[in-house]
Amino acid sequence: MSESLLKISGGYVYDPANGIDGQVHDLWIEDGAIIEPPTDPNRHPSHILDASGMVVMPGGIDMHCHIAGPKVNVARKMRPEEKRVAEPVPRTSRTHSGTMGSVPSTFATGYKYAGLGYTTAFDAAIPPLSARHAHEEFGDTPCLDKGFYVLMGNNHYVMRAIQQNEPERLKAFVGWLLGAAKGYAAKLVNPGGVEVWKQHQAGNVNRIDQVVDHFDVTPRQIIREMARTVDELHLPHAVHIHANNLGLPGNWETTLETMKSLEGHRGHITHIQFHSYGGGEGDETTFESKVAPLAEYVNAHDNITVDVGQVLFGETTSMTGDGPLGYFLHNIYGTKWFSADTEMESGCGIAPIKYRNKSLVHALQWAIGLEWYLMVEDPWKVVMSTDHPNGGSFLAYPQIIRLLMDRNYREEIIKTVHPAVRQRSQLADLDREYTMNEIAIITRAGPARILGLPNKGHLGPGADADVTIYTTHENQQTMFELPRYVIKSGRILVEQGDIREDFQGKTLHVAPEYATEIETDISNWFEQYYSIRFRNYPVSDHYLPSSERIACTATQQG
Ligand SMILES: [Zn+2]
Repeated sequence: MSESLLKISGGYVYDPANGIDGQVHDLWIEDGAIIEPPTDPNRHPSHILDASGMVVMPGGIDMHCHIAGPKVNVARKMRPEEKRVAEPVPRTSRTHSGTMGSVPSTFATGYKYAGLGYTTAFDAAIPPLSARHAHEEFGDTPCLDKGFYVLMGNNHYVMRAIQQNEPERLKAFVGWLLGAAKGYAAKLVNPGGVEVWKQHQAGNVNRIDQVVDHFDVTPRQIIREMARTVDELHLPHAVHIHANNLGLPGNWETTLETMKSLEGHRGHITHIQFHSYGGGEGDETTFESKVAPLAEYVNAHDNITVDVGQVLFGETTSMTGDGPLGYFLHNIYGTKWFSADTEMESGCGIAPIKYRNKSLVHALQWAIGLEWYLMVEDPWKVVMSTDHPNGGSFLAYPQIIRLLMDRNYREEIIKTVHPAVRQRSQLADLDREYTMNEIAIITRAGPARILGLPNKGHLGPGADADVTIYTTHENQQTMFELPRYVIKSGRILVEQGDIREDFQGKTLHVAPEYATEIETDISNWFEQYYSIRFRNYPVSDHYLPSSERIACTATQQG
């Protein structure tokens, strides 16, 4: 008989993946996993958590945030003015000290996510050359299971393989690269556009069919070929796409073309709020929401999922692998700005940003994000995100939950923002209110399914015992801000915001099979062009003291 058998008794359980919608239900936990209720009457739990009257859900999953790697680290150093005034995170007997601001330190990031009931998070943009750095920061990010997406949309080897029409070479390279970086998914950021930025002063692509010089490929080709490759490698998560023209008026047509360019392959379009704008080029007076036609397309196509990238009012830091975007923001707002290129792999841009509710553009961005949640009919296709910290902090998730669940509250806030929101978006006319079950879908069950994580986002036998227990409250923001208990891998890690132990989660990664003959070619490529030798490039196992390899067995949907 196991030493530790935990029973969570009497809570209202929301486990949408298993069809449980608020029914009272006991959970049993052993060795870090959910188990079937014991049939042996002599097996007694070593500990009982009384959840009577409380809401029980799987731990939250943030599928798109920026919490590790070089750009996050630069952003921390770039914003001392925020760190000086932010509430300190003092050291305790069980936890490290940390700092907040829009880009919290590593330890504070782990503690704050856990305190909010989130137990898994994925950094969305790591240059593979910086994978080691990201894994080292993960080592200092407690409480969470985590992983990252590998930037590939402007990788010279990728573009060259597409240019030379060598799909098998592309497939082998993508498989090798993900395994070498110990990453989780393939990420495209402004495919082709970052390369043009590197080649030309203030350069970018402005159409999905614009040719990237030197490589003679278009963004459409990169997206289509990468989507097909990811499906052929059976990666658990679809190709993760930050589309071209982020933030620009009129970009919705590029976004629609991006969806079509998948040609039926799986694709996840990230922070889609930033890609759903109507209006003329550079003309703020015509800026408007184009969520309706895009959501209609998502509703009709099962190969596409999205996360929102909700904007919240206040000050934050924009950080992106989209080099030209950082320059664009710097030019608009006149802020300090950081830009960097990573050899033949990617770019990076960082700039502070303050979203103001009286600004026409910012108020519309806020409304457009909410429209996405409310206009995608199937909650399994849309995931809660702020693109932390780009649209706002992950700490704003409880506020977004209230905006979705409470129409009266939403109406009150609409009254405080720029009045043009009523004419240029449909938000004020949408009366949909999310149910508790739907919130459980867009914050845990849905992202787990979209990421292809079989043991996350649900509470059936075999699931990782990541469980969040909330005290009910009529104000949903209050309820979701401070869970009563957070259980991570079967341990009661957080009680009412108080971290009880300094627990390290595991790193989730993939290791796809690939044609190993390609290594000779990649080795030659490294000898010619890289600052690092081929044999020193792959991340070795000791960078991941605790890890789980997720199988590449996905079959295409849609
Ligand atoms: Zn992002």
